[in-house]
Amino acid sequence: METTLWNVSATPFNFLSLGGGVQSSTMALMTAHGLIEPTPNAAIFADTQVEPRSVYIWLDWLRSEIARSPRPFPVYTVTNGNLMERALTIHTAKDGRRYTRSDVPTFLINANGEKGMIPNRACTGDFKIKPILKKVRELAGIKRGQKEITVTQWIGISWDEMQRAKLSRDKWCQNRWPLIERKMTRAMCLAWMKARGYPQPPRSACSFCPFHNDTEWRRLKLEEPEAFAQAVYFDRRLRALKAETNNFRSIPFVHPSLKPLDEVDFSNEEDRGQLNLWQDFNVECEGMCGV
Ligand code: SF4
Repeated sequence: METTLWNVSATPFNFLSLGGGVQSSTMALMTAHGLIEPTPNAAIFADTQVEPRSVYIWLDWLRSEIARSPRPFPVYTVTNGNLMERALTIHTAKDGRRYTRSDVPTFLINANGEKGMIPNRACTGDFKIKPILKKVRELAGIKRGQKEITVTQWIGISWDEMQRAKLSRDKWCQNRWPLIERKMTRAMCLAWMKARGYPQPPRSACSFCPFHNDTEWRRLKLEEPEAFAQAVYFDRRLRALKAETNNFRSIPFVHPSLKPLDEVDFSNEEDRGQLNLWQDFNVECEGMCGV
């Protein structure tokens, strides 16, 4: 069966990927009110265990709102462990060399003084995409080597970010983007939530995500000091681990200014939009993280 961005056929199973931010929360609530068909088998949130507290509070609220809606469906939380712990673990190679994995796409100063960025997003793949797909496989009874499409995965990408939409890599699954089908932008999602009297969802992303814009860093610093302190710790530990492994080829920072996070002045700096970061560094977002 051919699937294109706009041609999605009916399948026995439908699963809603819940990032927990504005778009996927709007998609979930619209579905719970019967505005997006059919009712999915479940929504699935992948927890990196390092989201700000506001995201977990929001998810609790969202889960209960869906449960008491006209078209309820289960909301599962899955996890592949704690992303910060894994990113800050020192591994030892067979030859005795000690190293850390580049799980999070941090900004770098290279040994020659040039600025760079870790291009891969192992964090998204291992902590967002894989645990969700594992749960989908379990719930839909996907067999090894299955080629028949039996699952539709709903992804909360809005009309203004449609360049993030990608076809599924799994033969048994097709992706669907209900907000793009309705030409709904992020602003329209927020307006829909407001018109319904719903609170504004938080921006769902790990506390230390290098894709935060300065508005989000400032918000974390002022409104969620615990999450900001976690990000400062993570940023500092990344560089300390480089020293512990004697690897100074590239020094990582979570902020593009290449300053320690607690030394960045968020009161004066101009914001850099997240989409610009993706374009500047040619980093792909899979539409799973809320960033
Ligand atoms: S929110 Fe950021 S740090 Fe967390 S998994 Fe996504 S890209 Fe990685």
